[in-house]
Amino acid sequence: MKTEDNKKNILDYLPDELETVASELGEKKFRAAQIFGWLAKGVTSFDDMKNIPASLRTALDERFYIGIPEAVRRQESKDGTVKCLFEFPDGTQVESVFMKYEYGNSICISSQSGCRMGCTFCASTMDGLDRSLTGGEMLAQVLAMRNITGEDIGHVVVMGMGEPFDNYEGLSGFIRLIHDKKGYDLGLRNITVSTCGLIPKIREFAVDFPQVNLAVSLHAPNQKLRERTMPVAKKYKYDDLMKACREYTELTGRRITFEYAVIDGVNDSAECAKELSARMKGWLSHVNLIPLNEVKGREYKTANGNSVAAFKKILESNGVAVTVRRTLGSDIDAACGQLRRKK
Ligand code: SAH
Repeated sequence: MKTEDNKKNILDYLPDELETVASELGEKKFRAAQIFGWLAKGVTSFDDMKNIPASLRTALDERFYIGIPEAVRRQESKDGTVKCLFEFPDGTQVESVFMKYEYGNSICISSQSGCRMGCTFCASTMDGLDRSLTGGEMLAQVLAMRNITGEDIGHVVVMGMGEPFDNYEGLSGFIRLIHDKKGYDLGLRNITVSTCGLIPKIREFAVDFPQVNLAVSLHAPNQKLRERTMPVAKKYKYDDLMKACREYTELTGRRITFEYAVIDGVNDSAECAKELSARMKGWLSHVNLIPLNEVKGREYKTANGNSVAAFKKILESNGVAVTVRRTLGSDIDAACGQLRRKK
């Protein structure tokens, strides 16, 4: 990865790693916690670290940069949603979205620039994968957004560009960084990770981060239909995915949210709703219906409100927990991944 003058991004470092840095620079270990605390506040320059001696600030500046990205595009909605196209020092661009909910403010962050999963309804994957982000770059989106909006952010969803389980190292680094008490101190239950269903990583995640919420993008009630829109289904079969999800709930005691983008004439029939109901019955599952965001250059149309309501009703009548995702920021832009493509 290209960095600023071969400097390292200090946002990638956990407190114990910063302790090593402090020792190497001939400083006391307690400086690490101070530096980590400043970084979580969103400072953009080492000179802002007021209680750090000037000599150490200079030494840090020679070796590191603070990788908070620049917002090269920004859109604000009437409902308070803010969408940013962030650019990192090497030119890599990702999207992040700030949203206001009754329960508090939330941000949707990206785990990769672009994506190689190839879902046929999604904008993020149209140009393939650019590169994965580091944990620090994922954290940096939260810090940058908080600096821009001036608002506290108490919930993070990893549902932006990219497949987080295709970047497990970056994802786990991010969770450790943002959860650390010396820094941002975000509760694990305030984090949600969404995957298209990379089975081996679902198992790993259940062991590593049982308290983090998991969402699985399902978008179909069976193998045949899922294969049509999600190439990943060819590698990880529907029945195996369901099995891994059940194991996840048994191991963690936590409910999985299944995302289901309702696409006109593709997966919105009463038969689909009945088949999905049968899949969901009798275990800790929850279905979140997402009215499809239409993507320029993609053939799919969003299902109309009536068919989404009818779909929901069938699930409900079968005792399945179901919600319809509230549409925020619809006046600024549609699906994630579109802002980056608007170049
Ligand atoms: N790669 C992860 C997270 C990325 S996207 C995943 O697949 O879960 C977050 C959610 O938005 C996923 O459920 C994804 O399938 C969905 N999505 C992508 N494009 C969409 C679109 N045009 N309309 C509605 N949902 C979409």
